[in-house]
Amino acid sequence: MSRGSKKAQWIRKTHLFRADEYICSVCGRSYPKPYDFCPGCGARPGKVKYDPHWVAEMEMMDILFDDDEDF
Ligand SMILES: [Zn+2]
Repeated sequence: MSRGSKKAQWIRKTHLFRADEYICSVCGRSYPKPYDFCPGCGARPGKVKYDPHWVAEMEMMDILFDDDEDF
């Protein structure tokens, strides 16, 4: 019996200064590595989707360390 369950997958988030984390697309919990199944909700993510989150973090850094530009 399947009732239109969401397709489970790990979303691999990479960070600039932290280890990667793997987020269950079903329950949203994050883990340091992709398990065979999610310990939180029991979903079995079949694949890992890459989410280059560090790009956003890099942009944050740009804002934080904004160089003064000549104008
Ligand atoms: Zn889960």
